[in-house]
Amino acid sequence: MSDKQLTIALSKGRILNDTLPLLEKAGITLLEDPEKSRKLVLPTSRDDVRILLVRASDVPTYVQYGGADVGVAGRDVLMEFGSYDLYEPLDLRIARCRLMVAGQPGANERPGRLRVATKFVNIARSYFATQGRQVDVIKLYGSMELAPLVGMADLIVDLVDTGNTLRANGLVPLEHIADISARLIVNKAAMKTKHRAVRALIDTLEQAVSARAR
Ligand code: AMP
Repeated sequence: MSDKQLTIALSKGRILNDTLPLLEKAGITLLEDPEKSRKLVLPTSRDDVRILLVRASDVPTYVQYGGADVGVAGRDVLMEFGSYDLYEPLDLRIARCRLMVAGQPGANERPGRLRVATKFVNIARSYFATQGRQVDVIKLYGSMELAPLVGMADLIVDLVDTGNTLRANGLVPLEHIADISARLIVNKAAMKTKHRAVRALIDTLEQAVSARAR
């Protein structure tokens, strides 16, 4: 990686869509439509900045190991993977939602050992363990809402925004685990070796975030 170039790891979808307007304030715009391009490395309007498109759950890994200098990752991803060796200097207050336990009404009060389907297995295990509740956690990679409908699980742990997905499947939010938003994360070495560029980006994003909050 060049010393002068700043590499930003983002994931397609909510994070990319919500981060681009913030990056625009730093004069960084994409030169190609990421939805149409198959490129994984996208040039920007600034010669010294490029954007990597990676899976949401891989963003912290790219940043920790220096594949990217900075990145934007959901707090859910950071919580699920536990201890990353990186800096988390800024809550971008985008891609906001809640991490919830959900199920059919009253499903969390059923007697006995409950089954919980989720892709957030570490978060689910530690949430229920902290409360002294014994559960069996079933790992799924998507469409968690289906598991209670087919009797495979009593509960799910999932991200909830409007609640429409739960409602459409006859489920309700039952317990709040955490408020989620996307965070700016920074590679520890880049914070030193590219301090000026990284600091300038953090400051501009911080201003953009607080301007939006007003
Ligand atoms: P909703 O129907 O608006 O409650 O959205 C719920 C669906 O969107 C679930 O499948 C979630 O996994 C997904 N979702 C909601 N908010 C986010 C977010 N901030 N980041 C990633 N996925 C999300």
